[in-house]
Amino acid sequence: LLDDSSTPHARLPVRPEHAGFAPYGAPQLDVPILLNVNENPYPPDDDVVRSVAADVADAVRGLNRYPDRDFLPLRSDLADFLARESGVRLVPEQLWAANGSNEIMLHVMQAFGGPGRAALSFAPTYSMYPEYARDTATRWLTIPRRDDFSLDVDAAVEAIETSAPAVVLIASPNNPTGTAMTLEGIARIAEAAARVTVRDPDGTAAGCGVVVVDEAYGEFRRTGTPSALELLGAHPNLAVSRTMSKAFALAGARVGYLAASVDLVDALRVVRLPYHLSGVTQAVARAALRHADVLLAQVDELRARRDETVAWLRRQTRAGVPLDVVESDANFVLFGRFDDRAEIWQGLLDRGVLIRVVGPDGYLRVSIGTAEEMTVFRSALVEVAGL
Ligand code: PMP
Repeated sequence: LLDDSSTPHARLPVRPEHAGFAPYGAPQLDVPILLNVNENPYPPDDDVVRSVAADVADAVRGLNRYPDRDFLPLRSDLADFLARESGVRLVPEQLWAANGSNEIMLHVMQAFGGPGRAALSFAPTYSMYPEYARDTATRWLTIPRRDDFSLDVDAAVEAIETSAPAVVLIASPNNPTGTAMTLEGIARIAEAAARVTVRDPDGTAAGCGVVVVDEAYGEFRRTGTPSALELLGAHPNLAVSRTMSKAFALAGARVGYLAASVDLVDALRVVRLPYHLSGVTQAVARAALRHADVLLAQVDELRARRDETVAWLRRQTRAGVPLDVVESDANFVLFGRFDDRAEIWQGLLDRGVLIRVVGPDGYLRVSIGTAEEMTVFRSALVEVAGL
């Protein structure tokens, strides 16, 4: 047996921007009620399991060969799905896919970010964004959201004009706040990015800014909040990123995808690793898309429970002060404010409920689980926070 304590240590040439960093991730704890990473609480039903497993078996028979590098059949299925879901018809070459939308976003930063370039986003937002920037040596810029976490489009346009970012990242609905943007606001940001010139260090004009709308939670948006997919036709510098991890209930399969102009997608194809999407992943994704209706069947129920959770939290007071609960278009709710949020988190955990300490000081985020899970969450919170 190798005893690690006897292994000599070398001073490794860790890049200075990585020094002192731990790998990103929420605690993965073995507790009964997991409401911490915005997963869908419903596993696929037995029919779907059998059907996906049959396709996976076929894929396994071909695993001696590398998978389809360009996976146009999957991209075509994704285009068909988006046409049904959002009414926007795209060609397969306008779709891209990767191992989660995390990898999609990394491709975007590898393709358009890099030394001498900047990426801009709107804080508070998804905590992985600065890590994509760090890992691609892209300068990371943020401007704050308003007090209600909505995005100040005038301030965003001004920041784009001043800093000419190569990439603008907008999560809509935003994580951890749940806030969605209007199409008008996104269009104005895409137009502002289209007007700026991104310059290389030697002064050469490289092109305009790219805007990515991260719709990881897009399917949970409230009616009347349309998808940014509708804007793609008019904005060749715009991309919409989606995932099968949330509404589709397939977080474990690691499938994210992006829709944009063919030129933008072609730029991503340059930076992907050869065969980045395994044959098994492609088979799972295509089979899941065939069962999209069943897999997405619980979305309406989860949205209704999200609204109920917001309403319930808003009725709660602590020492006479009502809780502050943020409006949500996603499958989670941000609420607070607690001087002792770490203690509340721990108290819930002691009762078997794992939520997330994330967002501005004093706030906690809870993902929407099953009806039973939310009942346990509510009574645990009443007890722990003294509501
Ligand atoms: N974007 C946002 C806003 C997210 O919250 C998440 C997951 N927490 C992701 C992207 C990444 O999801 P995945 O890689 O599973 O597609």
